Amino acid sequence: MELNEELVLKVLSNVRIEPRNFAALYVFRSSNDIFRALVVTILTQNTNDKNALRAYENLVRVAGDITPQRLLEIGEDAVANAIKVAGMHRVRARKILELSRVVLERFKGDLTIIRSLPVNEARKLLLELPGVGDKTADVILVNLGKLAFPVDTHITRISMRLGIVKSRNYGEIQRAWVKILTPDPGRYLEVHLKLIQFGRDVCRARNPRCGVCGFREVCQYYNNVLRSEK
Ligand code: SF4
Repeated sequence: MELNEELVLKVLSNVRIEPRNFAALYVFRSSNDIFRALVVTILTQNTNDKNALRAYENLVRVAGDITPQRLLEIGEDAVANAIKVAGMHRVRARKILELSRVVLERFKGDLTIIRSLPVNEARKLLLELPGVGDKTADVILVNLGKLAFPVDTHITRISMRLGIVKSRNYGEIQRAWVKILTPDPGRYLEVHLKLIQFGRDVCRARNPRCGVCGFREVCQYYNNVLRSEK
């Protein structure tokens, strides 16, 4: 048996997605605004989505509105205090304000142009913004309905364990999944979200629940590491 799209979809078919457990998805769906999605995605870096969303909602309460102008008006101290729950609040506040400054100066506060650009140009533009790396750019792109497969820490761990990649390199992991999946933004978004939830519930960092996992037959970690221990 090999890891193909049919198996991936079958194993993930029972995984349920609760939008509030995915901060960027939740904010993007409820606001349909790229700048807000970027702010919350910066808040998710190195913290969990629950705390990122709490920090974002505190920021909405304090700022009233999440726009580059408004965040620059209230300033670093107010932004940092509002987002404390996400951790590293000073560093994040500076990142968010730097992003706000650039979006205001280069785009007059409006990132709508990204929607109409081809995916590679949209990615290039996003990557030029401060605080935006590969994962953040791809999260925005796939939520905009563009062909991008974002890789996070859960997807990295699952990919390494399955043995479909040899390194934790972002591009290598992304290419491995793109090779397996039908090139469709909806499919990429679904599998991206479900793999993350699967990584939280089943293929956990500690004590993966291999006994209930449908990937066992094709999983290198299970077949090489765990079976040899029996
Ligand atoms: S068999 Fe175990 S290690 Fe492999 S994907 Fe499933 S839970 Fe993860």
